[in-house]
Amino acid sequence: MVALGDAQDERGDETRAKPVSKSGKQRREEIKRKRLERAQRLQERLRAPSHARAWPDAGIEPADRELLARYNNTYGALPEYYADRPFVCRDCGEEHVWTAKQQKWWYEVAHGHIDSTAVRCTSCRRKRRAASDAHPGGRLVSELCARMRALGDAAPDAAAWDEIERALSSKWWGVRVTAIATLGCWGDARALARLKDIVETGLVSDRWGDWAHEALKAATKALAECLPESETSWALEVWLGFRYAGDLIRPLSRQPASFWDPVVTREWRRNDADRLQRLPWALSRSPASQACQQQWRTLFMGHPLARVRQAVE
Ligand SMILES: [Zn+2]
Repeated sequence: MVALGDAQDERGDETRAKPVSKSGKQRREEIKRKRLERAQRLQERLRAPSHARAWPDAGIEPADRELLARYNNTYGALPEYYADRPFVCRDCGEEHVWTAKQQKWWYEVAHGHIDSTAVRCTSCRRKRRAASDAHPGGRLVSELCARMRALGDAAPDAAAWDEIERALSSKWWGVRVTAIATLGCWGDARALARLKDIVETGLVSDRWGDWAHEALKAATKALAECLPESETSWALEVWLGFRYAGDLIRPLSRQPASFWDPVVTREWRRNDADRLQRLPWALSRSPASQACQQQWRTLFMGHPLARVRQAVE
């Protein structure tokens, strides 16, 4: 009886049965041919009515449909199982088997889209990978970024977090920036803490052209999308102190007069021209009443520094 350990048995054959007359290449060819035949038989059997199928079966892996549903917005049905599947490689034109195990990994670990299937064999994929590694900025980066964006569509699990953390230290800034945006899509407590951490690190070591500077811009942009009310004061501090945190104006501009009045009083006393200069921009976007807006304008128009007065216009 052929059972779940079939793949191991096959590898066992490879090492155990070593006819001297056969070269390693010939043996591999033979194993490949056997695997292909088995996959073809399997596909035939799967076309038979379900009562005629024997379970468990070699070349079959059960699908975790709950997990699949989390990463796939599809109206189509999700699979109950994966079965070894023969396919013709797009590059070398040879027939290969996409094993049930590989499919399970692709859909459930790599979160490949449910409509995607293998189009290249392992060795052709490896060749392509080597080629794109030699030319960074090409396919690999765009694939990684697409993965990061896809992760942002679902609530994160431990694996997704690992992936984002790895991406945050990728050698390509584009991948890091996309990972930061994904944190903004998640917007849960952990993502929020991570984004704030990036911002605070950036504020300390901000230099134009540095990664810290890019990270800071990306993180404030991501935070603008997911900032809870409880973090408004924190966002205000960042926004007043850092001239590239312009995106934070969005959550801030939703704040009412009761939020801004004490801020104006405090900043007026502090009298830091850079900070005061930024305030009218936010104030004019707040939903405060006309009378309130007028009061703030009159105040700023009375400032001794021209650049603060000019910020009102
Ligand atoms: Zn190939």
